[in-house]
This record gives sequence, C-alpha cells and structure tokens, in this order.
Amino acid sequence: MREGDRDLPPASLGDMPSDEFLRHAEEMARWVADYFEEGTRLPVLAQVRPGDVRSALPTRPPAEPEAFDAIWEDFLTLVLPGITHWNQGGFHAYYAVTGSAPGVLGELIASALNVNAMVWRSSPAATELEELATDWLRQLIGLPEAYEGVINDTASSSTLYALAAAREAALPDAHRKGLAGGPRPRVYASEQAHSSVDKAVLTLGFGSEGLRKIPTDAEYRMDAEALRRAIVEDRAAGYAPVAVVATLGTTSTSSMDPISEINDIAEREKLWVHVDAAYSGPAAVCEEKAPLFSGWERSDSIVTNPHKWLFTPIDCSVLYTRRSDVLRSAFSLTPEYLQSSESASTTSLMDYGVSLGRRFRSLKLWFVMRYFGRSGIAARIREHCRLATLFAGEVSAADGWEIAAPVHFGTVVCRLVPDGANAGEVDALNLAIMDEVNATGEAFISQTVLEGAVWLRMSIGNLRTTERGVRRVWKLLLDSADRLAGAAPR
Ligand SMILES: *Cc1c(COP(=O)(O)O)cnc(C)c1O
Repeated sequence: MREGDRDLPPASLGDMPSDEFLRHAEEMARWVADYFEEGTRLPVLAQVRPGDVRSALPTRPPAEPEAFDAIWEDFLTLVLPGITHWNQGGFHAYYAVTGSAPGVLGELIASALNVNAMVWRSSPAATELEELATDWLRQLIGLPEAYEGVINDTASSSTLYALAAAREAALPDAHRKGLAGGPRPRVYASEQAHSSVDKAVLTLGFGSEGLRKIPTDAEYRMDAEALRRAIVEDRAAGYAPVAVVATLGTTSTSSMDPISEINDIAEREKLWVHVDAAYSGPAAVCEEKAPLFSGWERSDSIVTNPHKWLFTPIDCSVLYTRRSDVLRSAFSLTPEYLQSSESASTTSLMDYGVSLGRRFRSLKLWFVMRYFGRSGIAARIREHCRLATLFAGEVSAADGWEIAAPVHFGTVVCRLVPDGANAGEVDALNLAIMDEVNATGEAFISQTVLEGAVWLRMSIGNLRTTERGVRRVWKLLLDSADRLAGAAPR
C-alpha cells in the first residue's frame, strides 16, 4: 500500500499498531511453542492459596495506558503460577483434555475475525462451517445422516437445550402456558449421571422432583428394568414422563448405560432419549470402540464435546439431534410465516439455543479434524486407551489395590484398600495419597465417590502424555502408599 493510502484513526485513538502487534504475537507464539514442547517447571496443579493471585495484582484499573511488555511480564510472574496446567502431559484429573496447536491457531483466527454467527448473513461462513464441521464429526463417529449438529459452549448447555426440546415434544402447551396447571414433568437419568442433568431440570422449571434417578448395576450402568418400572409408576401417579438421559461414559467411572434397551423402552413410552457422551463420543471414531456405542444412533439427541477428547481448545460442545425442528421450535421466536426468503433457505444458529451471539467455534474444530484426519484422531485416542489399559494392569497386579469398573477408555478409577482398614481409614488414606502425588507437581489426579467410598481417578487424554509419564504416576502412587500405609504393594 502506498504511503498516504492508509486511512487509520489517530494513533492515540486506535488499536495497537500492527508492527507492535506482530512483535508481541511472535514473542507469544514462541512462548506457546516452548510451553507445548518443554512444558513448565511449574506444578501441574497450581500450588497457590486462595487469594494469592488476586492479592498480587492492583485492586484498581489503570488510569493510563500501560506498555504491553509490562502486562505480559505480570502474566508470567503473577498469573501463570496460579494456573493449573490442563494442557500438559501430567494432567490426569477430571477428564484430561488437549488444546492442540491447530486448535489454538483456530482460536487465534476466530478471535481476530471476531464474527458473530447469530444468523447466516451475520457471517455466512461461520454458519456454514459450523454445519459442515458438525457433519464431518457426525461421519467420523458413525452417526446417521439424520442427525444435525450445533455447537454450544459446554455439554451442560447442550443437555439443557436437548431437554427443552424434549419438553416441547412431550408438553407442547407448556411453550405458551408454562408448566403451572399441567402434569408434573419427569426426566430419568441414572444415579451416575452428570450434575448438568440436575441443573437442566431445575432451569427448565421441573423442580428437583422433576428428575428421577434410576439405580445402577455393579458396573455403574443404568438398570433398564428399574427405568421401565419407574416410568409405569410415575404415569400411574400422574407425572408426565418427558425424557431419559442415558450416559455413555459417566463422569465417575466412564460406565456405559445400556443404550439399546433404553431406546427400546423410550420408543414404547414415546419419550425423548438424550445421550450424554460428552467425554466418550470421540472414541467412536475407533472401529474397535464403535460396538460400545451400538444403539445410540436411535436416540433423539446426543451431546459430545470436542473440547474433551477431540483435541479442540475449550469451549466446543456439539449437540446432535435428529429432531432439529423440535429443538428450533423450543427456541425460535420467529414464527414460520415471518421468516424471510433468506432465513427460509439458510440456518439461523440463534434459533437452536438461548444465546443470540455465538463465537466462531467451528473454525478450530475444522482445523483440528483436517490437521489430524480420521486416522490421526483414531491413533491418538487409541494410544490413550492403551496407556490406560497399561496403568490398569499395574494397578490390578498390585497387592491391596483395586479397580472400580471396566476400563473402556482413557480413565482408570482405583484405590488402595489395606488389610484390616475400616472404610473411614481407607478414604483418608486414598485422599492423602492423592494429595501427596499432587503436591509433587509432577501430576494432577482427582477423586470421586462411589457408594460413599473415595476412589482415585487417573484420566489419560492429553497429547503430551507419555508412557514414561504414566508409569511415573504409578510409581508416585506406590511410593506414597508405602510411606502412608506402610503397605508394600506388589
Ligand atoms: C464433562 C462432562 C459433562 C460436563 O461437560 P461441560 O462441557 O463442562 O458442561 C457432562 N457429562 C459428562 C458425562 C461429562 O463427562
């Protein structure tokens, strides 16, 4: 561009100048590359006390502009120590995730473009790429063409929207009149279902009694016969059964509800089936895992999170439904007769949930799927499963250690039960072992409670996790157990 052609606001009123942006962007790109390659000497689980980060920073906003170098320096010295490193190989808590490099680049471009995908014309490519990327993912995980996907921030939102659609289908009058005066709605989910189901039911105004928890079997799977009986009982008592939420890959143990039987029951009872596969869904890419999901393709809606096990930076959750017309009527405020010619032939993503504004989340997902490809995604998920199986093998072979449930994916739930210890002592011991391992800073594992007992969760899902790292966690657990229990496992 020739000098004089540039039409920019005065420097004092404009954005950061582009040469300055480039300098910082290069420095940060190098920092990120090092972070990915070398990690950090900082502990995986941030070793700060509540208030440490906040008290290190000024309480008042700056009155005058600050140099970006100073801001970056404060990030490195004051904020970074308070970060728990989800994007490092030693992260094994909750469900381990990866914000992969292609995904991070997608985030960079999406925020630079800063488009808002509320309707097609507000950024045509953002709408169409969301349709395309969710359709690619549908094909990767083997779902039929009937499913259409939309991207939400989290599985919690996706499940809320799915249950709103289920209400629309089961209690159409409620859209206009609300729930008062009608039958009391009821949703069914197993005792192991995620708390997002409870929150969705509360948000929809069903009340906490609007969720009936169905007992699980010895492997923490929903008891389908108990579900059938509960529905019959509820109908007789005047409730209006609305939906069943089946979990494929529960939060505690990754157990798989019997989805075929659940769909059989729901079909007879004409109930909406929503599948929560937030964590496990991407594993359906691997053909050896696909049979675990058999029967999910008959469900009304399915949620899975690319930000959990598909290497996409948080946030990115895909809600699939084969009844997108019902989902749309739950949220669209534009009656069909007021749709413009354009809105009839294009998708208005604002009509599929609560948010009007929507980030361009499909870009990072599209980058990730292209960069790794079907074979690369499957190979990486397979490796995480291999490492989990290896870890589970060590645990099973060690004296006094036990495993809670079959290891289908990348997560192992285990605990140490020394001879003669009572339940309270076992819980305290396992929590102490976990705290010791986490205090080393080398790894971060978490706990869960099953039938009142504490268990440790080791989740493998980060692209930077290695076999050596996994063996190291097992060594740390054993060393800590030796010290704390005097037990000499193995
Ligand atoms: C992680 C998870 C959720 C919650 O996901 P968010 O995206 O954080 O809302 C819900 N259900 C299951 C089974 C999960 O694993």
